[in-house]
Amino acid sequence: MGGPRKVTVAIDGPAGSGKSTVSKEVARRLGYAYVDTGAMYRSVALLGMRAGLAPTDREGFIARAAAARMEFRVIGAGQRFFVNGEDLTDAVRDPEVGALSSPVSAILEVRKHLTAAQQRMAAGGGVVMEGRDIGTVVCPHAEVKVFVTATPPERARRRYLEVKAKGEDVTQEQVLAEISERDQRDSSREVAPLRRAEDAVELITDGLSIDEVVARITEMVREAEAR
Ligand code: C5P
Repeated sequence: MGGPRKVTVAIDGPAGSGKSTVSKEVARRLGYAYVDTGAMYRSVALLGMRAGLAPTDREGFIARAAAARMEFRVIGAGQRFFVNGEDLTDAVRDPEVGALSSPVSAILEVRKHLTAAQQRMAAGGGVVMEGRDIGTVVCPHAEVKVFVTATPPERARRRYLEVKAKGEDVTQEQVLAEISERDQRDSSREVAPLRRAEDAVELITDGLSIDEVVARITEMVREAEAR
Protein backbone atom coordinates (compact mmCIF):
# COMPACT_ATOMS: atom_id res chain seq x y z
CA MET A 1 0.00 0.00 0.00
CA GLY A 2 1.67 3.15 -1.22
CA GLY A 3 5.16 4.13 -0.17
CA PRO A 4 8.02 4.25 -2.62
CA ARG A 5 8.65 1.05 -4.52
CA LYS A 6 11.71 -0.91 -3.48
CA VAL A 7 14.37 -1.34 -6.12
CA THR A 8 17.43 -3.52 -6.69
CA VAL A 9 20.82 -1.96 -6.05
CA ALA A 10 23.84 -3.62 -7.70
CA ILE A 11 27.24 -2.63 -6.34
CA ASP A 12 30.34 -4.05 -8.02
CA GLY A 13 34.02 -3.32 -7.70
CA PRO A 14 37.44 -4.77 -6.96
CA ALA A 15 38.81 -5.92 -3.59
CA GLY A 16 39.48 -3.10 -1.14
CA SER A 17 37.36 -0.56 -3.02
CA GLY A 18 35.28 0.06 0.10
CA LYS A 19 32.20 -1.47 -1.49
CA SER A 20 31.35 -3.74 1.46
CA THR A 21 31.38 -0.99 4.06
CA VAL A 22 29.39 1.25 1.75
CA SER A 23 26.88 -1.42 0.67
CA LYS A 24 26.11 -2.40 4.26
CA GLU A 25 25.50 1.20 5.27
CA VAL A 26 23.35 1.97 2.21
CA ALA A 27 21.19 -1.08 3.01
CA ARG A 28 20.89 -0.05 6.65
CA ARG A 29 19.79 3.50 5.79
CA LEU A 30 17.24 2.31 3.26
CA GLY A 31 15.95 -0.61 5.32
CA TYR A 32 16.96 -2.93 2.46
CA ALA A 33 18.38 -6.44 2.68
CA TYR A 34 22.14 -6.71 2.12
CA VAL A 35 23.67 -9.59 0.17
CA ASP A 36 27.44 -10.08 0.21
CA THR A 37 28.00 -12.40 -2.77
CA GLY A 38 31.75 -12.54 -2.03
CA ALA A 39 30.92 -14.36 1.22
CA MET A 40 29.02 -16.93 -0.84
CA TYR A 41 32.06 -17.65 -3.06
CA ARG A 42 34.32 -17.65 -0.02
CA SER A 43 32.12 -20.23 1.70
CA VAL A 44 32.47 -22.66 -1.21
CA ALA A 45 36.25 -22.28 -0.90
CA LEU A 46 36.04 -22.81 2.87
CA LEU A 47 33.88 -25.94 2.62
CA GLY A 48 36.33 -27.35 0.09
CA MET A 49 39.32 -26.50 2.27
CA ARG A 50 37.74 -28.20 5.26
CA ALA A 51 37.10 -31.31 3.18
CA GLY A 52 40.75 -31.32 2.15
CA LEU A 53 40.02 -30.78 -1.55
CA ALA A 54 42.94 -30.00 -3.82
CA PRO A 55 42.55 -26.47 -5.28
CA THR A 56 42.25 -28.09 -8.71
CA ASP A 57 39.35 -30.40 -7.72
CA ARG A 58 36.65 -28.70 -9.80
CA GLU A 59 34.02 -31.40 -9.27
CA GLY A 60 34.54 -31.23 -5.51
CA PHE A 61 33.90 -27.49 -5.42
CA ILE A 62 30.95 -27.75 -7.80
CA ALA A 63 29.33 -30.40 -5.58
CA ARG A 64 29.73 -28.15 -2.54
CA ALA A 65 28.26 -25.14 -4.34
CA ALA A 66 25.30 -27.24 -5.49
CA ALA A 67 24.53 -28.60 -2.03
CA ALA A 68 25.13 -25.49 0.10
CA ARG A 69 22.09 -23.79 1.60
CA MET A 70 23.12 -20.17 2.03
CA GLU A 71 21.20 -17.53 3.93
CA PHE A 72 21.78 -14.08 5.34
CA ARG A 73 19.99 -13.77 8.68
CA VAL A 74 19.31 -10.49 10.40
CA ILE A 75 20.27 -10.88 14.05
CA GLY A 76 19.86 -7.88 16.32
CA ALA A 77 21.34 -4.82 14.63
CA GLY A 78 23.60 -6.92 12.43
CA GLN A 79 23.53 -9.67 9.91
CA ARG A 80 25.12 -13.13 9.89
CA PHE A 81 25.89 -15.48 7.03
CA PHE A 82 24.78 -19.11 7.46
CA VAL A 83 25.70 -22.08 5.30
CA ASN A 84 23.92 -25.39 5.92
CA GLY A 85 22.81 -23.97 9.26
CA GLU A 86 26.32 -23.01 10.42
CA ASP A 87 27.36 -19.40 11.06
CA LEU A 88 30.37 -18.83 8.76
CA THR A 89 30.39 -15.01 8.90
CA ASP A 90 33.83 -14.78 10.48
CA ALA A 91 35.36 -17.97 9.11
CA VAL A 92 34.99 -16.82 5.48
CA ARG A 93 37.05 -13.68 6.18
CA ASP A 94 40.24 -15.74 6.63
CA PRO A 95 42.83 -14.48 4.06
CA GLU A 96 43.58 -18.06 2.97
CA VAL A 97 39.89 -18.56 2.20
CA GLY A 98 39.91 -15.24 0.29
CA ALA A 99 42.85 -16.33 -1.82
CA LEU A 100 41.24 -19.68 -2.69
CA SER A 101 37.85 -18.08 -3.42
CA SER A 102 39.24 -16.39 -6.51
CA PRO A 103 40.14 -19.56 -8.50
CA VAL A 104 37.03 -21.31 -7.13
CA SER A 105 34.83 -18.48 -8.41
CA ALA A 106 36.28 -18.91 -11.90
CA ILE A 107 34.61 -22.36 -12.19
CA LEU A 108 31.59 -21.90 -14.45
CA GLU A 109 29.31 -24.42 -12.69
CA VAL A 110 30.09 -22.93 -9.28
CA ARG A 111 29.02 -19.56 -10.66
CA LYS A 112 25.81 -21.02 -12.10
CA HIS A 113 24.72 -22.35 -8.71
CA LEU A 114 25.56 -19.17 -6.83
CA THR A 115 24.13 -16.88 -9.50
CA ALA A 116 20.80 -18.74 -9.30
CA ALA A 117 20.77 -18.42 -5.49
CA GLN A 118 21.58 -14.71 -5.77
CA GLN A 119 18.80 -14.13 -8.29
CA ARG A 120 16.33 -15.75 -5.89
CA MET A 121 17.56 -13.46 -3.10
CA ALA A 122 17.17 -10.38 -5.31
CA ALA A 123 13.69 -11.27 -6.57
CA GLY A 124 11.21 -8.66 -5.43
CA GLY A 125 13.74 -5.86 -4.92
CA GLY A 126 14.53 -4.03 -1.69
CA VAL A 127 18.03 -5.44 -1.79
CA VAL A 128 21.58 -4.12 -1.99
CA MET A 129 23.69 -6.81 -3.62
CA GLU A 130 27.44 -6.50 -3.72
CA GLY A 131 30.02 -8.39 -5.78
CA ARG A 132 31.85 -8.46 -9.12
CA ASP A 133 29.16 -9.35 -11.66
CA ILE A 134 25.91 -8.13 -10.11
CA GLY A 135 25.22 -5.32 -12.60
CA THR A 136 26.43 -7.37 -15.57
CA VAL A 137 25.21 -10.94 -14.95
CA VAL A 138 23.20 -11.51 -11.75
CA CYS A 139 20.89 -8.48 -11.90
CA PRO A 140 21.34 -6.86 -15.32
CA HIS A 141 17.99 -5.09 -14.84
CA ALA A 142 18.84 -3.55 -11.46
CA GLU A 143 17.42 -0.03 -11.24
CA VAL A 144 20.60 1.27 -9.60
CA LYS A 145 24.06 0.11 -10.65
CA VAL A 146 27.25 1.41 -9.14
CA PHE A 147 30.84 0.47 -9.84
CA VAL A 148 32.87 1.41 -6.76
CA THR A 149 36.61 1.57 -7.12
CA ALA A 150 39.77 3.22 -5.83
CA THR A 151 43.37 3.34 -7.05
CA PRO A 152 45.42 0.17 -6.26
CA PRO A 153 47.64 1.80 -3.57
CA GLU A 154 44.56 3.19 -1.83
CA ARG A 155 42.84 -0.21 -1.94
CA ALA A 156 45.96 -1.90 -0.57
CA ARG A 157 46.17 0.66 2.22
CA ARG A 158 42.55 0.05 3.26
CA ARG A 159 42.82 -3.74 3.10
CA TYR A 160 46.08 -3.56 5.07
CA LEU A 161 44.45 -1.58 7.88
CA GLU A 162 41.53 -4.01 7.93
CA VAL A 163 43.73 -7.12 8.10
CA LYS A 164 46.12 -5.50 10.58
CA ALA A 165 43.22 -4.57 12.86
CA LYS A 166 42.45 -8.28 13.13
CA GLY A 167 45.95 -8.89 14.43
CA GLU A 168 47.31 -10.54 11.26
CA ASP A 169 51.00 -10.09 10.63
CA VAL A 170 51.33 -8.71 7.08
CA THR A 171 53.08 -5.90 5.25
CA GLN A 172 51.42 -3.40 2.95
CA GLU A 173 53.49 -4.79 0.05
CA GLN A 174 52.10 -8.30 0.65
CA VAL A 175 48.56 -6.93 0.67
CA LEU A 176 49.16 -4.98 -2.54
CA ALA A 177 50.57 -8.10 -4.23
CA GLU A 178 47.62 -10.21 -3.05
CA ILE A 179 45.05 -7.65 -4.21
CA SER A 180 46.73 -7.18 -7.60
CA GLU A 181 46.83 -10.92 -8.20
CA ARG A 182 43.17 -11.38 -7.27
CA ASP A 183 42.04 -8.41 -9.41
CA GLN A 184 44.06 -9.65 -12.33
CA ARG A 185 42.44 -13.09 -12.08
CA ASP A 186 38.92 -11.73 -11.43
CA SER A 187 39.15 -9.32 -14.40
CA SER A 188 40.69 -11.69 -16.90
CA ARG A 189 38.61 -14.85 -16.31
CA GLU A 190 36.27 -15.96 -19.06
CA VAL A 191 33.08 -16.25 -17.03
CA ALA A 192 31.54 -13.14 -15.51
CA PRO A 193 34.77 -11.15 -15.22
CA LEU A 194 34.96 -8.10 -13.01
CA ARG A 195 33.97 -5.19 -15.19
CA ARG A 196 31.78 -2.14 -15.03
CA ALA A 197 28.33 -2.55 -16.61
CA GLU A 198 27.91 0.00 -19.38
CA ASP A 199 25.03 1.62 -17.53
CA ALA A 200 26.72 1.60 -14.10
CA VAL A 201 27.78 4.83 -12.43
CA GLU A 202 31.48 4.71 -11.56
CA LEU A 203 32.50 6.10 -8.16
CA ILE A 204 36.24 6.47 -7.54
CA THR A 205 36.48 6.69 -3.79
CA ASP A 206 40.04 7.98 -3.22
CA GLY A 207 39.67 11.06 -1.05
CA LEU A 208 35.96 10.50 -0.44
CA SER A 209 34.65 9.63 3.01
CA ILE A 210 32.43 6.58 3.49
CA ASP A 211 29.64 8.96 4.33
CA GLU A 212 30.00 10.85 1.05
CA VAL A 213 29.90 7.66 -1.00
CA VAL A 214 26.91 6.33 0.97
CA ALA A 215 25.06 9.62 0.51
CA ARG A 216 25.64 9.57 -3.26
CA ILE A 217 24.31 6.03 -3.64
CA THR A 218 21.38 6.55 -1.27
CA GLU A 219 20.38 9.60 -3.32
CA MET A 220 20.48 7.52 -6.53
CA VAL A 221 18.24 4.92 -4.91
CA ARG A 222 15.74 7.51 -3.70
CA GLU A 223 15.51 8.88 -7.24
CA ALA A 224 15.00 5.39 -8.68
CA GLU A 225 12.32 4.61 -6.08
CA ALA A 226 10.41 7.73 -7.08
CA ARG A 227 10.55 7.00 -10.81
O1 C5P B 1 34.29 -9.56 -2.31
P1 C5P B 1 35.22 -10.61 -1.77
O2 C5P B 1 36.64 -10.18 -1.73
O3 C5P B 1 34.74 -11.18 -0.48
O4 C5P B 1 35.11 -11.81 -2.84
C1 C5P B 1 35.94 -12.94 -2.75
C2 C5P B 1 36.19 -13.50 -4.15
O5 C5P B 1 34.97 -14.03 -4.67
C3 C5P B 1 36.64 -12.46 -5.20
O6 C5P B 1 38.03 -12.34 -5.29
C4 C5P B 1 36.08 -13.02 -6.48
O7 C5P B 1 36.99 -13.90 -7.05
C5 C5P B 1 34.87 -13.80 -6.05
N1 C5P B 1 33.60 -13.15 -6.36
C6 C5P B 1 33.08 -13.32 -7.62
N2 C5P B 1 31.87 -12.80 -7.94
C7 C5P B 1 31.15 -12.12 -7.03
C8 C5P B 1 31.68 -11.90 -5.74
C9 C5P B 1 32.92 -12.43 -5.44
O8 C5P B 1 33.71 -13.93 -8.47
N3 C5P B 1 29.94 -11.64 -7.37
